[in-house]
Amino acid sequence: METPVLTIVVPCYNEEEVFLETAKQLTGVLQQLQKEKLIASESKLLFVDDGSRDRTWELILEESEKNPLITGIKLSRNFGHQRALLAGLQAAMEYSDCVISIDADLQDDIQAIREFIIKYWEGFDIVYGVRRSRSTDTWFKRATAQGFYRLMQKMGIALIYNHADFRLMSRRALQELSRYDEANLFLRGIVPLLGFRSTQVLYDRKERFAGESKYPLKKMLSFALDGVTSFSVVPIRFITFVGFLSFLLSSIAGLYAFIVKLLGYAESGWTSIMISIWLIGGLLLMSVGFIGEYIGKIYQEVKRRPRFIIEENLYSLRMKTNQKERIHL
Ligand code: UDP
Ligand code: MG
Repeated sequence: METPVLTIVVPCYNEEEVFLETAKQLTGVLQQLQKEKLIASESKLLFVDDGSRDRTWELILEESEKNPLITGIKLSRNFGHQRALLAGLQAAMEYSDCVISIDADLQDDIQAIREFIIKYWEGFDIVYGVRRSRSTDTWFKRATAQGFYRLMQKMGIALIYNHADFRLMSRRALQELSRYDEANLFLRGIVPLLGFRSTQVLYDRKERFAGESKYPLKKMLSFALDGVTSFSVVPIRFITFVGFLSFLLSSIAGLYAFIVKLLGYAESGWTSIMISIWLIGGLLLMSVGFIGEYIGKIYQEVKRRPRFIIEENLYSLRMKTNQKERIHL
């Protein structure tokens, strides 16, 4: 096998506090791998600025002048983690044999990158970074995350347990990924659907070394709901089931009331009416809400809007000039 060109894609949203350190550490990893001849000299770090409001993009520009390994893409506004990641993956795919995605806060162990590459050499198309434990998370985040994975599994969504977006993908896996053009992106749900030879690498996840999480509870919840409703119709089936059950129960109750009336004990129950009104009302509201969630999804999908917009692309500029130079040589 020829030495692969690796691109490491790093989505960044307001990461000025961590950027320089992250760039330094990842540069070290790339240089080491290049020295070991595990990756080609054209390998790069590709930072995707997801519409940051701080100095992240300026820092990326400055560093890219000093450090030939660093390039960047600037999105025209904040599109969210998943879309920023996709923008980076699709750009990187053109000039790379394999691409690794990692968060800017280096919570994922960068030493695992070497193992990813070794797995790639062994012929794997997809390598999932899997957290060994969640001991560095807060109790709350750990519990909600675990509950989420269990729920997803029950609904038949194939997720890799304790894997986020730290993974390696080969070019052909990325090409197939590009054919999934859904607006509601949930990458870790799509990647297992691609097939190909895949494997896992275990690592310990650290705490964010600076800056704060860009996933507050509100974003986390909407992300989880997206994950469920873009992959599974189980919630809708559940509504049908509950609706059927309540219909059955109220038929029995109705029959009972009718018999009671026929027998002449018609002390008509205020309580039972109140209860049924509330019960049915609740069920209806819940059902409409659930269905609305799916209709909202359909609405977004049928619009076929672009999932991200690139404002500046240092990466393809540089790679193109590289290619020209090589042709002239
Ligand atoms: N991120 C992004 N756009 C957003 C939110 C986050 O590109 O709108 C990036 C962020 O810069 C980081 C990664 O996504 O590199 C993961 O975010 P974070 O570390 O805040 O999430 P957590 O680890 O707390 O789940
Ligand atoms: Mg993080």
